[in-house]
Amino acid sequence: MKTNITLVLACVLALNSAEANEKPASSLQSNLVATRNHYSQLIAGDAPNIAVLTLFTNMLPKGGDLHHHYSGAIYAETYLDWVGEQNYCIYRATDTQLKSEKFRIVSKPQELSEAARAVCINADAVRQDSLFYNELLKRWSDKDYDNHFHEQPAPDLQFFDTFGYFNAVSNYDYNKGLQSLKARAKTENLGYLETMLKGGPSIDKPEFETLLSTLDPSSSEQQIEKALLNAYDFLTSDADTSTKLNTYIKSLQDAATGIDDENFKVRFQAYVSRNNAPAKVFSSLYTSFAAAKDSKLVVGVNIVGPENRHVAMRDYSLHMKMFAFLKKRFPSVKLSLHAGELTLGMVPPEGLRSHIHEAVFVAGANRIGHGVDIAHETDAPELLNILKQRMVAIEVNLTSNAFILGVKNEAHPVQLYARHGVPFVISTDDAGVSRNNLSGEYLLYVRNYKPSYDELKHIVYNSIRYSFLPDDEKHDETEKLDKRFAEFEARIATLPRAIL
Ligand SMILES: [Zn+2]
Repeated sequence: MKTNITLVLACVLALNSAEANEKPASSLQSNLVATRNHYSQLIAGDAPNIAVLTLFTNMLPKGGDLHHHYSGAIYAETYLDWVGEQNYCIYRATDTQLKSEKFRIVSKPQELSEAARAVCINADAVRQDSLFYNELLKRWSDKDYDNHFHEQPAPDLQFFDTFGYFNAVSNYDYNKGLQSLKARAKTENLGYLETMLKGGPSIDKPEFETLLSTLDPSSSEQQIEKALLNAYDFLTSDADTSTKLNTYIKSLQDAATGIDDENFKVRFQAYVSRNNAPAKVFSSLYTSFAAAKDSKLVVGVNIVGPENRHVAMRDYSLHMKMFAFLKKRFPSVKLSLHAGELTLGMVPPEGLRSHIHEAVFVAGANRIGHGVDIAHETDAPELLNILKQRMVAIEVNLTSNAFILGVKNEAHPVQLYARHGVPFVISTDDAGVSRNNLSGEYLLYVRNYKPSYDELKHIVYNSIRYSFLPDDEKHDETEKLDKRFAEFEARIATLPRAIL
């Protein structure tokens, strides 16, 4: 067994892939057939060959990652580097008198009292204390999480709490962060990243907030429409909003400077956080839509944050109406909405019945993030049918769903979507927090669900087909993907011979 794997690795590394595209069609076809056969052998039986399958999914061309949170994608180790570069410190203990909280970053250590300074250590000291370092990684991510052996919060709280720890450094240098994500993408044979880098700015003026403060779940359609119209008129004529919008777009341009090249491209989704007051949500949503209209770098708008929390559940329908209102005024803006990231027991059953439906029918979503509670939606078969007809793609995040929701393996609705012909893509969500990467997500997908090689390829192409790139760029990215697959299959085609 060992010998076989060594031979496989040696052979893969030794191959010259540059010739792939110059080969005649018959050679492309024979490479495809050989890759199909090789892959079928790997997934065959009750115990798929995970080691060789890992090699296979690492090398597999990935197209794009369409559900990707920038700050959640960066690993805690990198954030610790950034703590060091900025001379910040991290509390090593919680003390109510000192107001220190273990694992929390302090950005101005010089302003701390002497006693507080004594329990706030720099990045080097963190790394030298292996026990604390290990504890910190576990607190800033899902690393080694085990609810039975550690006094840790529930998985969903653990996951979302991590952002509170590294938020103090996650906006340190967007360009540097994107460079590191690009480097990771290249090693994964990934050509396109559609990431949520930074939310649309909100407006916090009291005279604006009062325009939406009367809205509650009992407000009529007319009351909502009237309030949104007044709020919209305010924002479109407010000079400060315009300044914030321009600053926001400029920051995204700066972040993206020098990132795109022949083999890699990054685009952004603007987004709004769903657990805020209506005025904050609507103003952030407005600047997100406006940025998507004004900047080619912003290809879509999203809504993020824990969907099961009180405000998100209470205002869900209102949020969808806000999307619908703005979509009418910015019809070209594409929407990918986190919807149905819920399970039975997480919220009352009534809360599982309409989120995906409203995201599609009210807000006009082009893609759905997660869509895990689909089976609990009212008339789910009809909704699945509509998703298929309208070609609304589902962004499937297997590791994230397994950790936060506990939904995995045969319980995951990816098979339900596949069975009903609803398009889907494989994506990462927050690879840094989850301690995974896109190759790992594909590995989970193939080992759990065993799609055929042609189905797998189809899913990879979906990541360009359902991206929010303009049609001409999709065309270019598809051609690049063709080339990547030709090279990949040319390399894989030698593997069975090597094993023999
Ligand atoms: Zn997400």
